[in-house]
Amino acid sequence: MTVFAKIVAGELPCNKIYEDEYILAFHDINPDYKVHALVIPKSGHLEGIQDAQMSDKELLGHLMSKIPLIAEKLGVDKTGYRVVTNNGPDSHQEVPHIHFHILGGESLRGL
Ligand code: AMP
Repeated sequence: MTVFAKIVAGELPCNKIYEDEYILAFHDINPDYKVHALVIPKSGHLEGIQDAQMSDKELLGHLMSKIPLIAEKLGVDKTGYRVVTNNGPDSHQEVPHIHFHILGGESLRGL
């Protein structure tokens, strides 16, 4: 069971920003930026974006469509933010449960 599955199950606490039936957003425990939040589907059936199937389009579309609301709750909707998902070893993905980082609260280096 991943740490994110434990958070969804209520076995680990999180600093929650937003929750609905399908997704959960919470502050990253080890922030790399002034604002660093994570958005996850509650279902842990996708380790990363490479696992996404057409049958996941509603779930992933729902998650993406809620990011502006979550950004508003974080106070970065006007200043801007970056959405990142790490996939696999070269990206240093640590948690094999698909998740999207929302980064901001400061000027980010250009990619
Ligand atoms: P990634 O490297 O893309 O897999 O990102 C995983 C992220 O999860 C890292 O930024 C960690 O700091 C974060 N993280 C790990 N455990 C927890 C936790 N219990 N609560 C909140 N964030 C966590």
